[in-house]
Amino acid sequence: MQGFNKYYPPDYDGEKHKSLNSYRGKHALGDRARKLDQGILITRFEMPFNIWCGTCNNHIGMGVRYNAEKKKVGSYYSTPIFSFRCKCHLCDGWFEIQTDPKNTRYVVVSGARQKDEDWNPEENGGFPVHDSSASAIVADPLATLEKTTDAQNYVAKVQIPRLETLQTASDHYNSDPYSLSTKARKRFREEKKIEIRKKAADDQIKGRYALPETFKLLEDDDEAREQAKEEWTKRRLELETEMQRNTKKQKLIPPISSITNSTSPRTSSAFTSNDKLRSLKARILENTSRKASSFTGNKRKPPDWIPDSRSKNVKGS
Ligand SMILES: [Zn+2]
Repeated sequence: MQGFNKYYPPDYDGEKHKSLNSYRGKHALGDRARKLDQGILITRFEMPFNIWCGTCNNHIGMGVRYNAEKKKVGSYYSTPIFSFRCKCHLCDGWFEIQTDPKNTRYVVVSGARQKDEDWNPEENGGFPVHDSSASAIVADPLATLEKTTDAQNYVAKVQIPRLETLQTASDHYNSDPYSLSTKARKRFREEKKIEIRKKAADDQIKGRYALPETFKLLEDDDEAREQAKEEWTKRRLELETEMQRNTKKQKLIPPISSITNSTSPRTSSAFTSNDKLRSLKARILENTSRKASSFTGNKRKPPDWIPDSRSKNVKGS
C-alpha cells in the first residue's frame, strides 16, 4: 500500500528513511513498478490499429487498452525503441508491439497480425511519405555536373566582377580620407555662403511685398527670368486687345456715360483700371436703354447689337 496521506509514524526518522515511500519499502509508482528490476514498467497501452490475436484468432479493435509491460529494447539514434507486451483479454496469449521511430509508427512484432489499412500514397499515384529508400537513389551525374558548371559560371561572370567593383569603389573612397574630407567641407562652405546670400535677397523681396515667411520664391536664374518675361509680354498683349475691343464698344454708345453720370470719363486709359466693373455697367445701361425704348413706343427690340438704332434710342430718351 502506497502512503497516500501525510501521516508520519512515531518511529519515522527523516535522516534515515528520507521519504515515506522508502519508510514503507514501496516504490513511488506502486504495483506498476513490481517488475522494475527486469527493466519492465507496467503502463496503460491503447491499441493504435486493429489486430487479430495470433493465439485465438479474435479481432481486437483499435483503441482497446491493456496493462502492457513497457520495456526498452533498443534505440534509433538517441531515440529509445520501446516494446509493449500485452496479454490478450480473450485468451492467454501474449502479443508484442514495438515503436518504430524511423518511420514514426508502431509495428506488431509477435503474437498477432496487424490489419493493414494504412493509406498508401504510392499505391494511389502519390509519393511515399516514409521513404526509407530515398538515400539509395543515386542522383543523375549529368544533371549534377550541369548544376555545378552553372554555379561556377555564375560565380565567375557575376559575383566576382561585382565584388571587384565594390572593392575598387571602397579603395577609391578610403585611400585618402583627409583630402576628401577637406574637399567636401570646402565645397559645403561655398554652397553655404551662396545659400545665405540668396536667403538675404529673398527676405528683402518678401519684406518689401509683405509675403509670408514660408512663401517659396522661384530660383532666380536665366530660365525663370525668360519665363517671367514671356508671361509678362503675353498678358500685356491680352490686355491691349481687350482695351481695343472696349474702346470700340465705347465709341458705339457715347451718351451712356452722360445718362448714368458715371464717375469717370470713359477714355481709353480708364479701361485699364477696372474691366469687370465696366462690363457690368455697360450691361446695366443696355437694359436701361431698352426700357426707355419701350416707353417711347418703340416695341422693336434689337435682336443683336445694332449700333444705329441703339444710339438713336438712347438719344431719344
Ligand atoms: Zn487471443
